[in-house]
Amino acid sequence: MGVFSGRRALVTGAGKGIGRATALKLAEMGAEVFALSRTAKNLDSLRAECPSIKTICVDLSDWTATREAVQKIVPIHLLVNNAAMAALEPFLTTSPETFDNLMNVNVKALMNVSQVVAGDLVNREERGSIVNVSSQAGQRALTDHTAYSCTKAAVDMMTKMMALELGPKNIRINAVSPTVVLTDMGRLGWSDPAKAGPMLARIPQGKFAEVCDVVNAIVFLLKDESDMVNGHMLPVDGGFLAA
Ligand code: NAP
Repeated sequence: MGVFSGRRALVTGAGKGIGRATALKLAEMGAEVFALSRTAKNLDSLRAECPSIKTICVDLSDWTATREAVQKIVPIHLLVNNAAMAALEPFLTTSPETFDNLMNVNVKALMNVSQVVAGDLVNREERGSIVNVSSQAGQRALTDHTAYSCTKAAVDMMTKMMALELGPKNIRINAVSPTVVLTDMGRLGWSDPAKAGPMLARIPQGKFAEVCDVVNAIVFLLKDESDMVNGHMLPVDGGFLAA
């Protein structure tokens, strides 16, 4: 019997990176896991790695398709809103397309999925725990991160709003705020030593986070052990936000 036995979990953006590792961890801990993502081949390889995981291929930027897909798999007791897109553009040339695309996937889709999952739990009078994957970029200005950082600041406020309105319904909502993790997304901004060096110098522990660091924090917030933690943004940043 695992810690999450009898509980149904949904992880968005589970095709690769942090989401994939989270889905695998939750399955290992006994949850019935649904992995949602955009690219079928990544989900196929996840299922090959862990056949108990059920996969859902949908583009979160499609409001209606996402809603219908999530409605089919409720109840979900453990939700990890992990999917996001990143883009690097200077403030002066950040395009309206980039801004809209990132807001749509990183913020609006998170609200969409959470409305379906939490709305269903409220109707059933069942408890749940939701973790939003935010970023240190939601709380600190980083060069060329205007659209991305704004979406993560919005995720932080969404986390507080959800905690406020769903706390009375026995659903907790928290966020994790990682520093750089060298996934595909992390490599986009930070594989160049000229950028990585100054960032590492701002992290008191002097290193980037590993995927497992983020997964462990997510698991803590999903577990009943963190029962009184609600509306919190947990940095997984080696002290970056404290400095
Ligand atoms: P990643 O390796 O790029 O993986 C992102 C996953 O999300 C992929 O599986 C991707 O699908 C999926 N996804 C993206 N857009 C989607 C859409 N429209 N519909 C459905 N699925 C979609 O990213 P990661 O580094 O693991 O990031 C995970 C989370 O951590 C994100 O919220 C990110 O903002 C946050 N974060 C990352 C870092 C970092 O340095 N890596 C730092 C702080 C916070 P595909 O399989 O199609 O690509």
